[in-house]
Amino acid sequence: MDKDLPIWILEPELTEKRDSSARKLFEGGQRTPHIPETISIYDIKRRIRAVREYARNNLDMFVAELKNNLKQKYPQVKVKSAQDSTEAVEYITRVSDGLNVVSINNSSIVAQELRPELTATGFTVVNSYLNEFDVEKRSILDYWDLPRLSDKNLLGTFEVSIKTAGLDPTNDTKKYLAVLGVNAISAEDCTVFFLEHFSNIHNDLRQAEKVLLVVGLDKIVKDRKDAIFQTKCMGIFGMESALLGIGPKSEGTLSLDELGLLPSDKSRELHVIILDNGRSNLLQVKYEDLFLCIGCRACNQHCPIQHSFTNVDYIWTPRNFLNQFLSGRSDSIDVCLHCEACRMECPLDIDLPHLMWQAKMDYVNKRSPSFYHRILGRPELLARLGTPLAPLANLLMNNGLIRSPMEIITGIDRKATLPKFHSRTFKKWFRKNA
Ligand code: SF4
Ligand code: SF4
Repeated sequence: MDKDLPIWILEPELTEKRDSSARKLFEGGQRTPHIPETISIYDIKRRIRAVREYARNNLDMFVAELKNNLKQKYPQVKVKSAQDSTEAVEYITRVSDGLNVVSINNSSIVAQELRPELTATGFTVVNSYLNEFDVEKRSILDYWDLPRLSDKNLLGTFEVSIKTAGLDPTNDTKKYLAVLGVNAISAEDCTVFFLEHFSNIHNDLRQAEKVLLVVGLDKIVKDRKDAIFQTKCMGIFGMESALLGIGPKSEGTLSLDELGLLPSDKSRELHVIILDNGRSNLLQVKYEDLFLCIGCRACNQHCPIQHSFTNVDYIWTPRNFLNQFLSGRSDSIDVCLHCEACRMECPLDIDLPHLMWQAKMDYVNKRSPSFYHRILGRPELLARLGTPLAPLANLLMNNGLIRSPMEIITGIDRKATLPKFHSRTFKKWFRKNA
Protein backbone atom coordinates (compact mmCIF):
# COMPACT_ATOMS: atom_id res chain seq x y z
CA MET A 1 0.00 0.00 0.00
CA ASP A 2 1.39 3.45 -0.93
CA LYS A 3 1.45 6.04 1.83
CA ASP A 4 -0.52 9.06 0.67
CA LEU A 5 -2.29 10.21 -2.44
CA PRO A 6 0.23 12.02 -4.70
CA ILE A 7 -0.85 15.57 -5.61
CA TRP A 8 1.36 17.44 -8.08
CA ILE A 9 1.09 21.10 -9.01
CA LEU A 10 2.26 22.63 -12.29
CA GLU A 11 3.21 26.30 -12.36
CA PRO A 12 4.54 28.72 -15.00
CA GLU A 13 8.24 28.31 -15.56
CA LEU A 14 10.12 31.52 -16.37
CA THR A 15 11.74 31.57 -19.81
CA GLU A 16 14.81 33.29 -18.43
CA LYS A 17 15.23 30.64 -15.76
CA ARG A 18 15.02 27.82 -18.27
CA ASP A 19 17.40 29.43 -20.74
CA SER A 20 20.03 30.35 -18.17
CA SER A 21 20.09 26.90 -16.54
CA ALA A 22 20.49 25.29 -19.95
CA ARG A 23 23.29 27.76 -20.78
CA LYS A 24 25.11 27.03 -17.53
CA LEU A 25 25.09 23.30 -18.22
CA PHE A 26 26.44 23.96 -21.68
CA GLU A 27 29.13 26.38 -20.48
CA GLY A 28 30.08 23.91 -17.75
CA GLY A 29 31.15 21.47 -20.42
CA GLN A 30 28.20 19.06 -20.22
CA ARG A 31 27.96 17.48 -23.62
CA THR A 32 24.19 17.23 -23.73
CA PRO A 33 22.71 20.22 -21.91
CA HIS A 34 19.08 19.66 -20.96
CA ILE A 35 17.55 21.95 -23.55
CA PRO A 36 14.13 20.47 -24.31
CA GLU A 37 13.63 19.70 -27.95
CA THR A 38 11.55 22.08 -29.98
CA ILE A 39 7.99 20.93 -30.57
CA SER A 40 5.66 22.85 -32.82
CA ILE A 41 2.25 23.99 -31.72
CA TYR A 42 0.74 21.78 -34.42
CA ASP A 43 2.44 18.71 -32.96
CA ILE A 44 1.16 19.62 -29.50
CA LYS A 45 -2.38 19.95 -30.86
CA ARG A 46 -2.12 16.59 -32.61
CA ARG A 47 -0.79 14.95 -29.45
CA ILE A 48 -3.39 16.42 -27.07
CA ARG A 49 -6.17 15.33 -29.43
CA ALA A 50 -4.74 11.78 -29.37
CA VAL A 51 -4.49 11.81 -25.54
CA ARG A 52 -8.07 13.02 -25.18
CA GLU A 53 -9.52 10.61 -27.75
CA TYR A 54 -7.77 7.72 -26.02
CA ALA A 55 -9.19 8.81 -22.64
CA ARG A 56 -12.70 9.22 -24.08
CA ASN A 57 -12.67 5.88 -25.92
CA ASN A 58 -11.54 4.01 -22.80
CA LEU A 59 -13.49 5.99 -20.22
CA ASP A 60 -15.27 3.07 -18.55
CA MET A 61 -12.01 1.18 -18.15
CA PHE A 62 -10.16 4.21 -16.71
CA VAL A 63 -12.97 5.08 -14.27
CA ALA A 64 -13.00 1.49 -12.97
CA GLU A 65 -9.18 1.44 -12.75
CA LEU A 66 -9.08 4.75 -10.89
CA LYS A 67 -11.74 3.70 -8.36
CA ASN A 68 -10.08 0.37 -7.78
CA ASN A 69 -6.62 1.94 -7.32
CA LEU A 70 -7.96 4.55 -4.91
CA LYS A 71 -9.61 1.83 -2.85
CA GLN A 72 -6.60 -0.48 -2.83
CA LYS A 73 -3.74 2.01 -2.48
CA TYR A 74 -5.28 4.89 -0.54
CA PRO A 75 -8.04 3.51 1.73
CA GLN A 76 -7.69 6.59 3.96
CA VAL A 77 -9.07 8.75 1.11
CA LYS A 78 -12.87 8.86 1.10
CA VAL A 79 -14.21 8.39 -2.43
CA LYS A 80 -17.68 9.38 -3.64
CA SER A 81 -19.15 8.95 -7.13
CA ALA A 82 -21.74 11.66 -7.80
CA GLN A 83 -24.15 11.51 -10.69
CA ASP A 84 -24.87 15.23 -10.66
CA SER A 85 -24.05 18.48 -8.86
CA THR A 86 -26.93 18.01 -6.40
CA GLU A 87 -25.55 14.67 -5.24
CA ALA A 88 -22.05 16.18 -4.97
CA VAL A 89 -23.27 19.13 -2.90
CA GLU A 90 -25.33 16.81 -0.67
CA TYR A 91 -22.14 14.83 0.00
CA ILE A 92 -20.13 18.00 0.73
CA THR A 93 -22.86 19.14 3.15
CA ARG A 94 -22.89 15.75 4.88
CA VAL A 95 -19.13 15.68 5.47
CA SER A 96 -18.82 19.39 6.26
CA ASP A 97 -19.37 18.69 9.94
CA GLY A 98 -20.60 22.20 10.70
CA LEU A 99 -17.95 24.03 8.64
CA ASN A 100 -19.68 26.67 6.57
CA VAL A 101 -16.86 28.32 4.61
CA VAL A 102 -15.82 26.75 1.31
CA SER A 103 -12.77 27.80 -0.66
CA ILE A 104 -12.86 26.91 -4.36
CA ASN A 105 -10.32 27.23 -7.15
CA ASN A 106 -11.17 28.76 -10.52
CA SER A 107 -11.87 25.45 -12.23
CA SER A 108 -15.23 25.54 -14.01
CA ILE A 109 -16.38 22.29 -12.36
CA VAL A 110 -16.52 24.03 -8.98
CA ALA A 111 -16.80 27.71 -10.00
CA GLN A 112 -19.76 27.05 -12.28
CA GLU A 113 -21.21 23.60 -11.66
CA LEU A 114 -21.08 23.37 -7.85
CA ARG A 115 -20.89 26.93 -6.63
CA PRO A 116 -24.54 27.96 -7.19
CA GLU A 117 -25.82 24.97 -5.18
CA LEU A 118 -23.16 25.40 -2.49
CA THR A 119 -24.26 29.01 -2.05
CA ALA A 120 -27.95 28.05 -2.09
CA THR A 121 -27.25 25.44 0.60
CA GLY A 122 -25.91 28.18 2.88
CA PHE A 123 -22.13 27.88 2.48
CA THR A 124 -20.02 31.03 2.23
CA VAL A 125 -18.03 30.39 -0.92
CA VAL A 126 -14.67 32.10 -1.49
CA ASN A 127 -12.88 31.86 -4.83
CA SER A 128 -9.34 31.75 -3.49
CA TYR A 129 -7.84 32.34 -6.95
CA LEU A 130 -9.53 35.72 -7.31
CA ASN A 131 -9.01 36.46 -3.64
CA GLU A 132 -5.26 36.21 -4.02
CA PHE A 133 -5.19 38.70 -6.89
CA ASP A 134 -5.74 41.71 -4.69
CA VAL A 135 -6.00 44.62 -7.13
CA GLU A 136 -8.39 47.53 -7.35
CA LYS A 137 -9.08 47.44 -11.04
CA ARG A 138 -8.94 45.00 -13.89
CA SER A 139 -5.49 45.24 -15.44
CA ILE A 140 -2.44 43.19 -16.34
CA LEU A 141 0.44 43.99 -14.01
CA ASP A 142 4.12 43.02 -13.95
CA TYR A 143 3.03 40.28 -11.58
CA TRP A 144 1.42 38.72 -14.57
CA ASP A 145 4.46 38.90 -16.78
CA LEU A 146 4.29 35.22 -17.55
CA PRO A 147 6.49 33.62 -20.21
CA ARG A 148 5.66 34.40 -23.82
CA LEU A 149 4.65 31.46 -25.90
CA SER A 150 6.79 30.57 -28.88
CA ASP A 151 7.47 27.35 -30.71
CA LYS A 152 10.77 27.17 -28.81
CA ASN A 153 10.30 25.00 -25.75
CA LEU A 154 6.53 25.42 -25.56
CA LEU A 155 6.18 22.39 -23.33
CA GLY A 156 8.63 23.87 -20.84
CA THR A 157 6.35 26.85 -20.23
CA PHE A 158 4.66 25.01 -17.36
CA GLU A 159 6.48 22.52 -15.14
CA VAL A 160 5.64 20.35 -12.14
CA SER A 161 7.00 22.49 -9.32
CA ILE A 162 5.28 21.11 -6.20
CA LYS A 163 4.87 17.46 -5.31
CA THR A 164 2.84 16.68 -2.20
CA ALA A 165 1.33 13.49 -0.84
CA GLY A 166 -1.98 13.47 1.03
CA LEU A 167 -2.59 16.18 3.63
CA ASP A 168 0.16 16.94 6.10
CA PRO A 169 -0.76 17.67 9.71
CA THR A 170 0.18 21.34 10.18
CA ASN A 171 -0.02 23.89 12.95
CA ASP A 172 -2.02 26.37 10.93
CA THR A 173 -4.96 24.23 9.76
CA LYS A 174 -8.01 26.45 9.46
CA LYS A 175 -11.69 25.70 9.90
CA TYR A 176 -12.89 25.56 6.32
CA LEU A 177 -13.48 23.19 3.43
CA ALA A 178 -11.48 23.39 0.22
CA VAL A 179 -13.43 22.10 -2.79
CA LEU A 180 -10.94 21.95 -5.65
CA GLY A 181 -11.59 20.98 -9.28
CA VAL A 182 -8.61 18.91 -10.46
CA ASN A 183 -7.12 19.44 -13.90
CA ALA A 184 -6.14 15.82 -14.57
CA ILE A 185 -5.79 12.50 -12.75
CA SER A 186 -3.90 9.39 -13.73
CA ALA A 187 -6.03 6.23 -13.63
CA GLU A 188 -2.90 4.11 -13.44
CA ASP A 189 -1.54 5.48 -10.15
CA CYS A 190 -4.15 8.07 -9.00
CA THR A 191 -1.71 11.04 -9.14
CA VAL A 192 -3.77 14.24 -9.04
CA PHE A 193 -2.65 17.28 -11.09
CA PHE A 194 -3.40 20.94 -10.67
CA LEU A 195 -2.38 23.95 -12.73
CA GLU A 196 -1.66 26.94 -10.54
CA HIS A 197 -0.79 30.53 -11.42
CA PHE A 198 -0.66 31.83 -7.84
CA SER A 199 -0.34 29.79 -4.66
CA ASN A 200 -4.04 29.44 -3.79
CA ILE A 201 -4.32 25.70 -4.49
CA HIS A 202 -1.17 24.86 -2.58
CA ASN A 203 -2.37 27.01 0.34
CA ASP A 204 -5.73 25.23 0.43
CA LEU A 205 -4.04 21.83 0.35
CA ARG A 206 -1.79 22.98 3.18
CA GLN A 207 -4.31 24.57 5.49
CA ALA A 208 -7.97 23.55 4.88
CA GLU A 209 -9.40 21.21 7.50
CA LYS A 210 -11.17 19.12 4.87
CA VAL A 211 -10.10 18.94 1.24
CA LEU A 212 -12.50 17.61 -1.38
CA LEU A 213 -10.93 17.00 -4.78
CA VAL A 214 -13.55 17.10 -7.53
CA VAL A 215 -12.69 14.95 -10.55
CA GLY A 216 -14.85 15.41 -13.66
CA LEU A 217 -15.05 12.24 -15.75
CA ASP A 218 -13.29 14.18 -18.50
CA LYS A 219 -10.21 14.69 -16.32
CA ILE A 220 -9.40 10.98 -16.01
CA VAL A 221 -6.55 9.92 -18.32
CA LYS A 222 -4.39 6.85 -18.71
CA ASP A 223 -1.24 7.68 -16.76
CA ARG A 224 0.97 10.42 -15.31
CA LYS A 225 2.55 11.22 -18.66
CA ASP A 226 -0.82 11.97 -20.26
CA ALA A 227 -2.02 13.83 -17.17
CA ILE A 228 1.04 16.12 -17.12
CA PHE A 229 0.71 16.75 -20.83
CA GLN A 230 -3.01 17.58 -20.55
CA THR A 231 -2.36 19.95 -17.63
CA LYS A 232 0.49 21.66 -19.51
CA CYS A 233 -1.79 22.15 -22.53
CA MET A 234 -4.37 23.84 -20.31
CA GLY A 235 -1.67 26.30 -19.32
CA ILE A 236 -0.21 26.82 -22.78
CA PHE A 237 -3.50 27.42 -24.55
CA GLY A 238 -5.31 29.08 -21.68
CA MET A 239 -2.71 31.56 -20.52
CA GLU A 240 -4.02 34.48 -22.56
CA SER A 241 -7.59 33.95 -21.31
CA ALA A 242 -6.31 33.71 -17.74
CA LEU A 243 -4.43 36.99 -18.18
CA LEU A 244 -7.33 38.83 -19.71
CA GLY A 245 -10.07 37.31 -17.59
CA ILE A 246 -8.71 38.18 -14.19
CA GLY A 247 -10.69 40.75 -12.28
CA PRO A 248 -10.44 42.63 -9.03
CA LYS A 249 -11.41 40.95 -5.79
CA SER A 250 -15.08 41.56 -4.97
CA GLU A 251 -15.73 43.95 -2.15
CA GLY A 252 -16.46 42.40 1.23
CA THR A 253 -15.02 39.00 0.27
CA LEU A 254 -14.17 36.94 3.33
CA SER A 255 -10.45 36.41 3.87
CA LEU A 256 -9.42 32.86 4.82
CA ASP A 257 -6.80 34.39 7.13
CA GLU A 258 -9.65 35.52 9.41
CA LEU A 259 -10.80 31.95 10.10
CA GLY A 260 -10.04 30.18 13.38
CA LEU A 261 -7.43 27.45 13.77
CA LEU A 262 -8.32 23.78 14.10
CA PRO A 263 -7.83 22.28 17.61
CA SER A 264 -4.72 20.08 17.61
CA ASP A 265 -6.68 16.90 18.48
CA LYS A 266 -8.72 17.06 15.24
CA SER A 267 -7.31 15.49 12.11
CA ARG A 268 -7.64 16.60 8.51
CA GLU A 269 -9.66 14.74 5.86
CA LEU A 270 -9.13 14.12 2.16
CA HIS A 271 -12.06 13.22 -0.12
CA VAL A 272 -12.30 12.57 -3.85
CA ILE A 273 -15.61 13.20 -5.63
CA ILE A 274 -15.85 11.63 -9.10
CA LEU A 275 -18.46 13.76 -10.82
CA ASP A 276 -20.45 12.98 -13.96
CA ASN A 277 -22.95 15.86 -14.11
CA GLY A 278 -23.92 15.30 -17.75
CA ARG A 279 -20.46 14.31 -18.99
CA SER A 280 -21.34 10.72 -19.89
CA ASN A 281 -24.31 12.03 -21.91
CA LEU A 282 -21.79 13.76 -24.17
CA LEU A 283 -20.51 10.40 -25.32
CA GLN A 284 -23.44 10.03 -27.69
CA VAL A 285 -22.01 10.53 -31.18
CA LYS A 286 -23.33 14.05 -31.87
CA TYR A 287 -21.61 15.72 -28.93
CA GLU A 288 -18.71 13.36 -28.27
CA ASP A 289 -16.13 15.97 -29.31
CA LEU A 290 -17.18 18.09 -26.33
CA PHE A 291 -15.83 15.38 -24.06
CA LEU A 292 -12.37 16.11 -25.50
CA CYS A 293 -12.38 19.63 -24.01
CA ILE A 294 -9.49 20.29 -21.62
CA GLY A 295 -11.09 23.45 -20.16
CA CYS A 296 -8.29 25.75 -21.36
CA ARG A 297 -10.68 28.64 -22.18
CA ALA A 298 -8.90 29.55 -25.42
CA CYS A 299 -12.32 29.58 -27.12
CA ASN A 300 -13.14 32.69 -25.11
CA GLN A 301 -10.28 34.80 -26.46
CA HIS A 302 -11.85 36.26 -29.60
CA CYS A 303 -15.52 35.54 -29.02
CA PRO A 304 -17.33 38.81 -29.84
CA ILE A 305 -20.04 38.10 -27.31
CA GLN A 306 -17.79 36.90 -24.49
CA HIS A 307 -19.09 39.64 -22.20
CA SER A 308 -22.48 37.92 -22.28
CA PHE A 309 -20.76 34.95 -20.66
CA THR A 310 -18.79 36.79 -18.04
CA ASN A 311 -19.67 37.95 -14.60
CA VAL A 312 -17.39 39.14 -11.86
CA ASP A 313 -16.47 35.77 -10.43
CA TYR A 314 -16.45 33.49 -13.43
CA ILE A 315 -14.61 33.17 -16.69
CA TRP A 316 -17.32 31.84 -18.94
CA THR A 317 -16.49 30.29 -22.25
CA PRO A 318 -18.52 29.31 -25.31
CA ARG A 319 -17.90 25.72 -24.23
CA ASN A 320 -19.43 26.31 -20.77
CA PHE A 321 -22.27 28.21 -22.37
CA LEU A 322 -23.11 25.20 -24.58
CA ASN A 323 -22.65 22.84 -21.67
CA GLN A 324 -25.12 24.79 -19.54
CA PHE A 325 -27.66 24.60 -22.36
CA LEU A 326 -27.18 20.87 -22.97
CA SER A 327 -27.51 20.09 -19.27
CA GLY A 328 -30.73 22.13 -18.97
CA ARG A 329 -29.18 24.79 -16.71
CA SER A 330 -29.89 27.47 -19.33
CA ASP A 331 -32.66 27.61 -21.92
CA SER A 332 -31.13 29.62 -24.74
CA ILE A 333 -28.00 29.72 -26.89
CA ASP A 334 -29.37 32.42 -29.13
CA VAL A 335 -26.63 34.97 -28.47
CA CYS A 336 -24.02 32.98 -30.43
CA LEU A 337 -23.23 34.68 -33.77
CA HIS A 338 -21.71 31.54 -35.31
CA CYS A 339 -18.66 33.55 -36.30
CA GLU A 340 -16.31 30.54 -35.89
CA ALA A 341 -13.73 32.43 -33.77
CA CYS A 342 -13.94 29.84 -30.99
CA ARG A 343 -13.38 26.97 -33.39
CA MET A 344 -10.25 28.62 -34.77
CA GLU A 345 -8.77 28.98 -31.28
CA CYS A 346 -9.61 25.56 -29.88
CA PRO A 347 -6.49 23.38 -29.64
CA LEU A 348 -8.69 20.29 -29.87
CA ASP A 349 -10.41 21.60 -33.00
CA ILE A 350 -13.84 21.26 -31.38
CA ASP A 351 -16.42 22.71 -33.75
CA LEU A 352 -18.40 24.68 -31.16
CA PRO A 353 -20.44 26.77 -33.63
CA HIS A 354 -21.67 23.60 -35.33
CA LEU A 355 -22.46 22.00 -31.97
CA MET A 356 -24.44 25.12 -31.00
CA TRP A 357 -26.56 24.68 -34.15
CA GLN A 358 -26.94 20.99 -33.39
CA ALA A 359 -28.04 21.70 -29.80
CA LYS A 360 -30.53 24.27 -31.03
CA MET A 361 -31.97 21.90 -33.63
CA ASP A 362 -32.33 19.14 -31.04
CA TYR A 363 -34.04 21.58 -28.67
CA VAL A 364 -36.51 22.78 -31.30
CA ASN A 365 -37.20 19.22 -32.48
CA LYS A 366 -38.13 18.20 -28.95
CA ARG A 367 -40.34 21.19 -28.24
CA SER A 368 -42.43 23.32 -30.56
CA PRO A 369 -40.65 26.59 -31.36
CA SER A 370 -41.50 29.51 -29.09
CA PHE A 371 -43.65 32.41 -30.29
CA TYR A 372 -40.47 34.54 -30.33
CA HIS A 373 -38.71 32.11 -32.67
CA ARG A 374 -41.77 31.70 -34.88
CA ILE A 375 -42.06 35.47 -35.30
CA LEU A 376 -38.38 36.32 -35.71
CA GLY A 377 -37.70 33.27 -37.83
CA ARG A 378 -40.14 34.46 -40.53
CA PRO A 379 -39.05 37.94 -41.58
CA GLU A 380 -40.98 37.63 -44.89
CA LEU A 381 -44.25 37.25 -42.95
CA LEU A 382 -43.43 40.29 -40.81
CA ALA A 383 -42.60 42.28 -43.94
CA ARG A 384 -45.91 41.31 -45.57
CA LEU A 385 -47.80 42.52 -42.50
CA GLY A 386 -45.83 45.72 -41.94
CA THR A 387 -45.20 47.01 -45.47
CA PRO A 388 -48.79 48.03 -46.43
CA LEU A 389 -49.06 50.14 -43.27
CA ALA A 390 -45.39 51.11 -43.04
CA PRO A 391 -45.71 54.61 -41.42
CA LEU A 392 -48.24 53.39 -38.84
CA ALA A 393 -46.25 50.17 -38.16
CA ASN A 394 -43.03 52.17 -37.61
CA LEU A 395 -44.84 54.57 -35.27
CA LEU A 396 -46.22 51.71 -33.19
CA MET A 397 -42.85 49.91 -33.12
CA ASN A 398 -41.29 52.97 -31.50
CA ASN A 399 -44.06 53.54 -29.00
CA GLY A 400 -43.14 52.75 -25.38
CA LEU A 401 -46.69 51.61 -24.57
CA ILE A 402 -46.46 48.99 -27.32
CA ARG A 403 -42.85 47.96 -26.71
CA SER A 404 -43.37 46.90 -23.10
CA PRO A 405 -46.03 44.24 -23.79
CA MET A 406 -44.15 43.36 -26.98
CA GLU A 407 -41.06 42.61 -24.91
CA ILE A 408 -43.07 40.29 -22.66
CA ILE A 409 -44.70 38.46 -25.57
CA THR A 410 -41.80 38.23 -28.05
CA GLY A 411 -38.73 38.64 -25.84
CA ILE A 412 -37.46 41.58 -27.94
CA ASP A 413 -35.86 44.15 -25.65
CA ARG A 414 -37.91 47.36 -25.55
CA LYS A 415 -34.75 49.42 -26.09
CA ALA A 416 -33.62 47.48 -29.18
CA THR A 417 -33.61 49.46 -32.44
CA LEU A 418 -35.81 47.62 -34.90
CA PRO A 419 -35.46 47.79 -38.70
CA LYS A 420 -38.01 50.08 -40.38
CA PHE A 421 -40.76 48.98 -42.75
CA HIS A 422 -40.84 50.72 -46.15
CA SER A 423 -43.96 51.05 -48.30
CA ARG A 424 -41.85 50.92 -51.44
CA THR A 425 -40.43 47.40 -51.57
CA PHE A 426 -37.26 46.50 -53.43
CA LYS A 427 -39.38 44.70 -56.08
CA LYS A 428 -41.43 47.84 -56.72
CA TRP A 429 -38.27 49.96 -56.87
CA PHE A 430 -36.63 47.51 -59.26
CA ARG A 431 -39.63 47.35 -61.58
CA LYS A 432 -39.65 51.12 -61.83
CA ASN A 433 -35.90 51.69 -62.19
CA ALA A 434 -34.60 48.63 -64.02
S1 SF4 B 1 -19.22 31.11 -32.87
FE1 SF4 B 1 -20.49 31.94 -31.17
S2 SF4 B 1 -19.51 31.26 -29.31
FE2 SF4 B 1 -18.01 30.97 -30.99
S3 SF4 B 1 -16.78 32.84 -30.99
FE3 SF4 B 1 -18.45 33.21 -32.41
S4 SF4 B 1 -20.10 34.14 -31.21
FE4 SF4 B 1 -18.62 33.26 -29.75
S1 SF4 C 1 -13.64 24.06 -26.23
FE1 SF4 C 1 -12.67 25.88 -25.34
S2 SF4 C 1 -12.06 25.26 -23.30
FE2 SF4 C 1 -12.45 23.39 -24.46
S3 SF4 C 1 -10.46 22.77 -25.32
FE3 SF4 C 1 -11.49 24.00 -26.86
S4 SF4 C 1 -10.75 26.07 -26.49
FE4 SF4 C 1 -10.26 24.88 -24.65
